[in-house]
Amino acid sequence: CTSCGLNSHKRCLELFPKTCGQNLQEKRGRMRLKTEFTSDNQLTVIIYEAKNLVPMDPNGLSDPYVKVKLVPDPKNETKLKTKVIKKNLNPEWNESLSMKISKDDLSRRLLVEVWDWDRLNTNDFMGSMSFGISELKKNSADRKSTRLNLQSRSDLVCRLLLEKKKKNKKK
Ligand code: CA
Repeated sequence: CTSCGLNSHKRCLELFPKTCGQNLQEKRGRMRLKTEFTSDNQLTVIIYEAKNLVPMDPNGLSDPYVKVKLVPDPKNETKLKTKVIKKNLNPEWNESLSMKISKDDLSRRLLVEVWDWDRLNTNDFMGSMSFGISELKKNSADRKSTRLNLQSRSDLVCRLLLEKKKKNKKK
């Protein structure tokens, strides 16, 4: 973008929301978590808390929970969830979720999403972030927790498209 300096792939431009001029930094809130390899083939994700989440319900609040999985995952085999914290935009989960990681998973990504639970309707997407598994493994000695901004789905789709393109180029 020539006015806000946001970098985007040409193919992804149409996926971006019209956010130019807005503060992109905390549009969907932020989340504090820690990822670590507790053994060579086990990844543990500790979900501490989120701040400043988006209200999804008529009462001006949300009922957030966190969904963690590896992507791609067409059969939905790797999905893990935290508990739902009702009516809270600054939830504290302090939950740890573990999954087995095989060699084949090094090319996959860890997808962390926040969803709003609804009793009557389908649950609503609130924000997401993702990490390359091979990157996480490389940096597994770094055990600090990280605080990251949540992204919209279009940002994520764009990043996945970019990575696919990069990989194809390498071949
Ligand atoms: Ca709700």
